[in-house]
Amino acid sequence: MASIGHVIVGLAGARLLTTPKSSLRERLGLAAGLSALSLFPDADVIAFALRIPYEAEWGHRGASHSLLLALLLGIACGLMLARGRGHGQRLRVLIVAALVAISHGLLDALTDGGLGVALLWPWSHERIFFPLRPLPVAPIGLRLLGPRGLSVIAHELLYFLPLLLWTLWPAAKSPRR
Ligand SMILES: [Zn+2]
Repeated sequence: MASIGHVIVGLAGARLLTTPKSSLRERLGLAAGLSALSLFPDADVIAFALRIPYEAEWGHRGASHSLLLALLLGIACGLMLARGRGHGQRLRVLIVAALVAISHGLLDALTDGGLGVALLWPWSHERIFFPLRPLPVAPIGLRLLGPRGLSVIAHELLYFLPLLLWTLWPAAKSPRR
């Protein structure tokens, strides 16, 4: 994926947690925090610069894309974003953050190229793809800005457009009492 989909998932998570009473600062904090969380596993592309092979345990889409690390990262990020909230809201933030983090590996397993995702690390090092793989895989690095990369971005935008529209749609105002 070209990251656009991951960002949209993060923004949708923020929208789920936003209420009409949320301040602009709170909205921006949630949107930035959850988008970064959703993208974070792809920081593992640094493995290429470190000459760690793609197929290695800590290579791209390896352990960093596992469900276990996503869950731990989601909970850690959720705890930060939930500071200062009531008990019920805290739990909601934790659950949404965990789901956003987990979504990354699951979406990558729906892509049509590269290596699969080590979703079950550390119990299994198998690189997994789902049987259905509708999402085009994005070229890595600057090649993303080439014709193929731009075509992937366009496809991804199309796939995630409904979620993006829902995310950007103004929230209904709560009825006056
Ligand atoms: Zn990824």
